[in-house]
Amino acid sequence: MPQNNTSMRTIIVKLTICVIFLSLGVSCSRLENKNAKKLKKPAFSPTLLEQNQIKKQLIEGLDTYQPKLIPPAKNPDGKVKNIILLIGDGMGLTQIYAAMTANKGKLNIENCNCIGLIKTYSSDQYITDSAAGATAFACGEKTYNGAIGVDDSGKPIKTILEIAEENGLATGMVATSSITHATPASFIAHQQSRKMEEEIASDFLKTDIDVFIGGGKKFFEHSVNNKNLLIDLKNKGYQVLDKLSDIVQIKTGKLAGFTAEEQNPTMAEGRGEMLVQSTLTAINILKQNEKGFFLMVEGSQIDWGGHNNDLDYVIKETFDFDKVIGEVLDFAAQDGETLVIITADHETGGLTLIGGDVKTGKVEGAFSTDGHSSVIVPVYAYGSQAQRFAGIYENTAIFNKMLDAFGFKR
Ligand SMILES: [Zn+2]
Repeated sequence: MPQNNTSMRTIIVKLTICVIFLSLGVSCSRLENKNAKKLKKPAFSPTLLEQNQIKKQLIEGLDTYQPKLIPPAKNPDGKVKNIILLIGDGMGLTQIYAAMTANKGKLNIENCNCIGLIKTYSSDQYITDSAAGATAFACGEKTYNGAIGVDDSGKPIKTILEIAEENGLATGMVATSSITHATPASFIAHQQSRKMEEEIASDFLKTDIDVFIGGGKKFFEHSVNNKNLLIDLKNKGYQVLDKLSDIVQIKTGKLAGFTAEEQNPTMAEGRGEMLVQSTLTAINILKQNEKGFFLMVEGSQIDWGGHNNDLDYVIKETFDFDKVIGEVLDFAAQDGETLVIITADHETGGLTLIGGDVKTGKVEGAFSTDGHSSVIVPVYAYGSQAQRFAGIYENTAIFNKMLDAFGFKR
């Protein structure tokens, strides 16, 4: 009996312990579930965190290059004759630092000593798209996502390119996307939606832009009502070309350079020196105007690398854009009357850097979204009146600062 009693007692004790552990376990897992529910809608990422798709990407051994050593600007307080606005679409701080690390710690962009930060939200969303972002730069107004050179109510607003033209300056645009894509479109067109690329193409004919080089030939060839705008461009005196080797030969006159039917290939696919060569060609033509010029250059595909969550794509496109920065800064340093502004419309991919080595060029990153993020993005300026761009301000202030630097009336 005492033996039986002991074993009964042992069983009861064991059962009690089991019950306690079980109920503890249940309440713990309930707590976890509660927390999981709370965490289910993180403010910063729509899907990837939930789906546990965040993966580290390791990039190493990319071909590096030596950045240029640009002397300080000759006339930091002097008159601004020319403005070159360089937009790295989707190029936040982490995209820049990823490229800087992969290039073993140095980029051309470091030659800029005036740095600012811009708030990128649009009129209707915390996270902007490229159309609203570029319209803010081009027109100085916050508008809704998708708007091309129109305000929040859909009314056309004059762009800095159009204002420069009215003041007798030469104007130009270069992009690695279609030239009718959201960013370049916002500087020249006025349409309710970025998707209206044929209408955007026809808006080019309403201006006197001197040089534009990029993809998007098909939107001109088959524009609204299947009109062939390439013929109209020729009739307006443009040299209409579709080979980069021909485009770079042009030294003077009006130029419409189409380097692709729609979008240009990526750097990894062999786009080569398209952006650098096109930018230099544009500068050489535009600088002949004695009153000065306005040029917008877009590194369009840094954004697409971010959307693809492809760190290799992001870095190679940022390298390409930084090489353009080197050439442009070189021109501005020699010219002495040029203001260079480098910025982004927004960051793309919610990229973070979680490892790397500036000595070897190894960089480890992870993306938190396949869309844009809302984080403030940097502005770098060099040349005459570059100091205007220091500080933290709205993306719309880029327009006002450019207008003031040119000395144009509002
Ligand atoms: Zn984008």
